[in-house]
Amino acid sequence: MKDTIYRCEICGTESDEENPARWIAIHCNDAHLTVFKWTTEAAEAPGARHYCGEAHAQVYISRWFESYCGGR
Ligand SMILES: [Zn+2]
Repeated sequence: MKDTIYRCEICGTESDEENPARWIAIHCNDAHLTVFKWTTEAAEAPGARHYCGEAHAQVYISRWFESYCGGR
């Protein structure tokens, strides 16, 4: 039994697959944001965020733009 479960940050969907189809990993800080096709390496990197698909990755990307580019 695998002990790694990934959870989509937007909807809470869980995946216990090592390489779930169509999931996306995002690495970001306040200066840049990088979208990764799902790989174990990208998913397990420190600070990586996990999304069940493009739509929910987009939700996070929009929030990221709002929080770092908005407020003017
Ligand atoms: Zn989701």
